[in-house]
Amino acid sequence: MRIKKNDIVVIRRGKDRGPADKPKTGKVLHVFPGRDRLIIEGINMISRHTRPTQRNPKGGIIRREAPIHRSNIALYCKSCAAPTKISYKFIDEGKGKQSKIRLCRRCGESI
Ligand SMILES: [Zn+2]
Repeated sequence: MRIKKNDIVVIRRGKDRGPADKPKTGKVLHVFPGRDRLIIEGINMISRHTRPTQRNPKGGIIRREAPIHRSNIALYCKSCAAPTKISYKFIDEGKGKQSKIRLCRRCGESI
């Protein structure tokens, strides 16, 4: 998966999409490996009715983020202030080591 925890992403579909000229963004809080789904801060909030537990003795309604599918989001480039696609670049770290960085395909800044 191209999107990692703490990335900023743009919501492109669904009720949290926002207006076309001002796409809504959020920070990735959690990626579910192999499931193509992510939790994004403040996006796709659901109310959960919970029974009292030891951690939450009163029970009641909890607002929390529900996972959304990665096809509904795009990586956000801060320098373009727009959703973007990425390309990869390999940086030689010496001693035969290489690290992979992600670049914005539009402006070339690393993401
Ligand atoms: Zn960019």
